[in-house]
Amino acid sequence: MTLLQSLIECLGPSNVLTDADAQPYLTDWRRYSTGCAVAVVRPASTDEVAAVVKLCAKYRAPIVPQGGNTGQVAGATPDRSGTAVVVNMQRMNRIRDIDVDNETMTVEAGCILAAVQQAAREAGKLFPLSLGAEGSCFIGGNLATNAGGTQVLRYGNARELALGLEVVTPQGEVWHGLRGLRKDNTGYDLRDLFIGSEGTLGIITAATLKLFPLPQTQHTAFIALPDFESATLVLNRVKKAFGAALTGFEVMSEQCLSLVVKTFPEQRMPINCQRPAPEWFALLELSDSEGGEHRRDGFELVLSDAMEASEIIDAAVAASESQGAAFWHLRESITLALAAEGKCIKHDISLPTSRLADFVRDVDAMLLARYTGLRMMVFGHLGDGNLHYNMLAPATLSKARFEQLEAQAQALVHDQVVARGGSISAEQGIGQRRVEDLRRYKDPVELALMVRIKQALDPLGIMNPGKLLA
Ligand code: FAD
Repeated sequence: MTLLQSLIECLGPSNVLTDADAQPYLTDWRRYSTGCAVAVVRPASTDEVAAVVKLCAKYRAPIVPQGGNTGQVAGATPDRSGTAVVVNMQRMNRIRDIDVDNETMTVEAGCILAAVQQAAREAGKLFPLSLGAEGSCFIGGNLATNAGGTQVLRYGNARELALGLEVVTPQGEVWHGLRGLRKDNTGYDLRDLFIGSEGTLGIITAATLKLFPLPQTQHTAFIALPDFESATLVLNRVKKAFGAALTGFEVMSEQCLSLVVKTFPEQRMPINCQRPAPEWFALLELSDSEGGEHRRDGFELVLSDAMEASEIIDAAVAASESQGAAFWHLRESITLALAAEGKCIKHDISLPTSRLADFVRDVDAMLLARYTGLRMMVFGHLGDGNLHYNMLAPATLSKARFEQLEAQAQALVHDQVVARGGSISAEQGIGQRRVEDLRRYKDPVELALMVRIKQALDPLGIMNPGKLLA
């Protein structure tokens, strides 16, 4: 029997997609590459995932775990060899349990992130992981990439939000690690090993997640800034004033927002400042466990102090929840506007927040001096030191010339990031796109340890080959 026939026998023909049915699953979100596969399979239970993995191990077939396929580094799609099996998790979408008193919920890996947030909300709790792709990414993909997003400043990234995991190993065993414990010092932390491993060590089938009290009120402000340095000054000012109540601090260049408004004309800028023309904007969110308006008054006072100190040009505090949502919508539309505009060179970098302003000033100047026609499109999660340090290349460039420019610009940016103690992948992972960068910049001992872990757990090398470690 062939592998394909065995998969059909195991899952039924409707859950083993081939030919045209498989096509939508074979191209990554950013359309870097389209791969080929024996099949795209859709198991509905942990046992089915384990059975599929055992079959793939028997036939030595590469396994590509896939969530919502919203990743930005082409980690969830196969190469062109046609030998891989894509394991799409969409049918494993049950909320297994919510323990309100323990503030935990256990969900399957194929739950869409927005559905996890919604289930928590219905139980009167908050699951704080939040990102632009939350309507289509899966919690399993979020954990496999250790996703960040807009609330990391207060709640941490995906790793900090998971207490336990259920994982199918590359041998098809099931590790039952769904513990809802906040303390458990019984040896190596396998949970942290699988989180962020981008499907190279096993398939996450379920997770026990941390929940938090739902904030009673949220206040959102949109501010215009004279320069990037002022953004970091305001960040420090509001952190000092509000501590853990500051749950979001996003920064966006004026070019990013102009592009959003051009691409989506129904969206409006909350502030229109003429003089001095703001170069940067920021979106701030405060969450409060108490109701009432006292926090809003304090927020306005701190922003007006910042304005007096010339750190802010203008500010708008949302008058209603829907206005706050409109502010967030602008921020979350940047990635889509860039995708619509065309040839974009992207970086997902992090630096100590104290070094970001110098980085932006110096590296902007280097890039603009060296390459004509670049449009800087920088935005990101300033509170976490994470910038999507992107730039649009002239649309007229040929594919070959664009790729050359992209390689040169990325090397320049990443050299500068690493020289300043930063990371070349803050939250999106390595996938296929950043494999060379990882080899170049990672500490050699650290990289060798990672390779040894991979070999120990996946000696056949069937889990997502070509990704992360290649
Ligand atoms: P996929 O893209 O399907 O997979 C990603 C990786 O995880 C692949 O290597 C895949 O093999 C592996 N994988 C998937 N599921 C499993 C599993 N169950 N077990 C083992 N391995 C698995 N990311 C951020 O971190 N922060 C942001 O703010 C952010 N904003 C975004 C905004 C937009 C508009 C878009 C399109 C993307 C954004 N992303 C962001 C990137 C992306 O949404 C995240 O990386 C997300 O966590 C990927 O989830 P997914 O389910 O789509 O995973």
